[in-house]
Amino acid sequence: MDFNLSEEHRVFQNSVRNLAENNLKNGSLERAHDPNFPRDVAKLFAQNGLMGITLPEKDGGQGGSLMDAVLAIEQVALVCPRSADVVQSGSFGPLRTFAEYASNYQKEKYLRKLLTGEFVIGLGMTEPNAGSAVTDLKTRAVKDGDGFRVTGSKVFTSNSPDADIFLVYVRYHEGLDGIGSVLMDTSMEGFSKGKPSKYTNGEEWCALYFDNVFVPKENVLLGPGGFKKQITGFNAERIGNTARSLALGEYAFNIAREHALTREQFGKKLCEFQGIQWKFSEMKIKIDAGRLLLYRAAMTADKGFPSSHETSIAKAFCNEAGFYICNEAMQVMGGMGYSEESLVEYCFRKSRGWQIAGGSTEMMKNRIAEDIFERRFSQRPNK
Ligand SMILES: Cc1cc2nc3c(=O)[nH]c(=O)nc-3n(C[C@H](O)[C@H](O)[C@H](O)COP(=O)(O)OP(=O)(O)OC[C@H]3O[C@@H](n4cnc5c(N)ncnc54)[C@H](O)[C@@H]3O)c2cc1C
Repeated sequence: MDFNLSEEHRVFQNSVRNLAENNLKNGSLERAHDPNFPRDVAKLFAQNGLMGITLPEKDGGQGGSLMDAVLAIEQVALVCPRSADVVQSGSFGPLRTFAEYASNYQKEKYLRKLLTGEFVIGLGMTEPNAGSAVTDLKTRAVKDGDGFRVTGSKVFTSNSPDADIFLVYVRYHEGLDGIGSVLMDTSMEGFSKGKPSKYTNGEEWCALYFDNVFVPKENVLLGPGGFKKQITGFNAERIGNTARSLALGEYAFNIAREHALTREQFGKKLCEFQGIQWKFSEMKIKIDAGRLLLYRAAMTADKGFPSSHETSIAKAFCNEAGFYICNEAMQVMGGMGYSEESLVEYCFRKSRGWQIAGGSTEMMKNRIAEDIFERRFSQRPNK
């Protein structure tokens, strides 16, 4: 077993780091406090081969592996935490699921614009009464002539105020096998967005409303029975969430380390106090352990989707580790860490959300337990 990155991976890692240092370091604080999606960063990435990293070249992607995409999201996050969301949006999020199952017509209509940074895509999965229990979703798609009429609503969609198109989970009929998905764009009659609301991380989301929206059959991504495929694609999204959690933790760790090397109290550098040293040791143990779990999930996926088992373990660990590290980094930095002038408080707020988003830590642990005991545990009341 070799724990080192290949030469090719290291070269790619360095090139992304250089691009980020040269273009994103300046302005990283302002970007973190701007609720809007950084479209200018998407355009920069499009010009430099960082959109669609895992998509085939014939579809306008880079033909890379999931591991390449993980290296890219990490290197960007370590320079500009907010810009890592653009790598997520361009290579991991709903775009990845969309590109996997899209027809040629759908790719022609939407994919090029997504990969050039002109369009932003959002994922409409969660509903007011279907969060962790996502299969309880009620948004209906009813056959109407040459398409479907969609009625329902979605909440908490990341990037929703900015997004131009949405991958929307719908129900064609009752039961698990009645779930699939459609592609909606903001120009469709009956589609509307609610008033923006703010997350703790500073980003905005708005409810999506579908009032009898006509979706032509060409915009059906997955018909009835598509749920399993959608969740398989969603595991790639979870890896991007996992990678950002850990990388933001490491970003905060690096800032706190510099602080501990220079800040003096009681006539000594902070790093000379054993109580502070042990905080750093704990943080470093979590960074290294998390990275091994993250890379295992990404490497075994190669050009496909990661396994749900390895993804759940990596996500549960890195989400908790990322937040723990940001919190400890903030403690080491004292009042400065808690202040908006330092990106540590941003990383703290941001990493908190990933313990909820993309399948909460509890839901990941439920999934891991099923693998341990080799049986399904229904979360629902006995019939
Ligand atoms: C930052 C952020 C970004 C998001 N982006 C998107 C997006 O782009 N698209 C989208 O569709 N959604 C998005 N979401 C929504 C997210 O997927 C849901 O918030 C999540 O699935 C949890 O659902 P809920 O909020 O309804 O909480 P609930 O499901 O009501 O859960 C509440 C609490 O109970 C726990 N719980 C629930 N069921 C169980 C169980 N069986 N066992 C143990 N514990 C349980 C949960 O872990 C949680 O702690 C986002 C959320 C956040 C915070």
